[in-house]
Amino acid sequence: MAIPQRQLFIGGEWRAPALGRRLPVVNPATEAPIGEIPAGTAEDVDAAVAAARAALRRNRGRDWARAPGAVRAKYLRAIAAKIIERKSELARLESLDCGKPLDESAWDMDDVAGCFEYFADLAEALDKRQNAPVSLPLENFKCYLRKEPIGVVGLITPWNYPLLMATWKVAPALAAGCTAVLKPSELASVTCLELGDVCKEVGLPSGVLNIVTGLGPEAGAPLSSHPDINKIAFTGSYETGKKIMAAAAPMVKPISLELGGKSPIVVFDDVDIEKAVEWTLFGCFWTNGQICSATSRLLLHKNIAKEFLERMVAWARNIKVSDPLEEGCRLGPVVSEGQYEKIKKFVSTAKSQGATILTGGVRPKHLEKGFYIEPAIITDIDTSMQIWREEVFGPVLCVIEFSSEDEAIELANDTHYGLAGAVLSGDRERCQRLTEEIDAGIIWVNCSQPCFCQAPWGGNKRSGFGRELGEGGIDNYLSVKQVTEYASDEPW
Ligand code: NAD
Repeated sequence: MAIPQRQLFIGGEWRAPALGRRLPVVNPATEAPIGEIPAGTAEDVDAAVAAARAALRRNRGRDWARAPGAVRAKYLRAIAAKIIERKSELARLESLDCGKPLDESAWDMDDVAGCFEYFADLAEALDKRQNAPVSLPLENFKCYLRKEPIGVVGLITPWNYPLLMATWKVAPALAAGCTAVLKPSELASVTCLELGDVCKEVGLPSGVLNIVTGLGPEAGAPLSSHPDINKIAFTGSYETGKKIMAAAAPMVKPISLELGGKSPIVVFDDVDIEKAVEWTLFGCFWTNGQICSATSRLLLHKNIAKEFLERMVAWARNIKVSDPLEEGCRLGPVVSEGQYEKIKKFVSTAKSQGATILTGGVRPKHLEKGFYIEPAIITDIDTSMQIWREEVFGPVLCVIEFSSEDEAIELANDTHYGLAGAVLSGDRERCQRLTEEIDAGIIWVNCSQPCFCQAPWGGNKRSGFGRELGEGGIDNYLSVKQVTEYASDEPW
């Protein structure tokens, strides 16, 4: 087997799933099975939630929730160090599991470690933020605020950045003093299970992090509706996001949702064309377009459209599509056969509706096996077309030309989503206007896709609500307790 064969990680131990079932792991580059992951179900979720609950408030002084932030920070830093120590092995597993080029997987591991370190700092800072005084209009009352962990949290994550998306939730949750049950995507759980091994290696107290792999309806659904879970943090599709919201509603359970996108990139006619072409291709094809914030709708000023498209097509045809472990690979396969078929269907439907496929959208001739798709650039698009309106989550760039700033803004905002947007222009004032006008949680100016754990991340409209990362990222897992004391000897 090319990958470690793990069980569920519950209460600090590896435990076989209650029903004894396992799911195959398929290498998307070869279509060959390379191992299995355990298929957890409701009974396993119950056990994981119970272990997390026990770890939250154990014996006095030994519980995770009441430990000083500085103590929790030590564990988070130890996890970061272990990730770096095991970086090349973890990166290889990530590439085998989800098809990401090896050097991208290695950068992901750096980001994973960086994210644990960042939230270790915020766990320490939390100690200093405790008991902040509130000034009141009456002198005989004193008021202060306690920040307390929300409790046991359920973390449900997608497959596009398997370990990194999990880390965006695990690191702040643990930093805040919550204990957690992580449910990674069934399409890419391998490195998340390795995180369990890392936790064991650094001696993280048992039950603080539990990992239940399995199918969404079988393992994710019982987690999101579990009565003993205090919050659900979810990253995934809009469709599943709606289900999470419905499951949480009867218990009025807090949730945060990081959902899909259909983000615009607006390119004006005063750009350096070469640089703008590069950012546009990077913004859409990085990680094979399997990025929630991919800027997959190009709004292109008509004055430069002809030259821009020619250069873009030539460049796209030169992108190396290959096995992700091969030197110089820029685009690997998409994650699964299901995604492969779905993306091809998007492209063929667009074609049948009158769109022009300038390049790509098909299997590269030199690769007979694996879920490979050449990066596609599509024009002659009508704004009512499915390919313009729905998230493809693959290497597909749609192009519409515009002639005025107002028209560009209208097109940019003509979507149910609102995760990100990019504007490329040499005119700073125009960039500022578009920054204000585009309805999205993230705006990139003269670039696309840079992401730092120091800056808040999240969307508007159907891209969800709440912000991960940044200093406020830890507050997602804290609740504020107001303490007001009558502090006078005078009778009230
Ligand atoms: P998905 O919604 O299919 O699955 C996400 C997770 O939800 C998986 O772990 C899955 O097993 C689980 N799940 C499925 N059904 C469930 C149910 N009924 N109850 C509870 N859990 C359930 O999404 P995906 O295909 O894994 O990921 C791609 C999507 O994620 C895209 O829409 C992408 O835009 C989005 N995404 C968003 C962000 C962001 O930050 N906004 C980041 C990455 C991915």
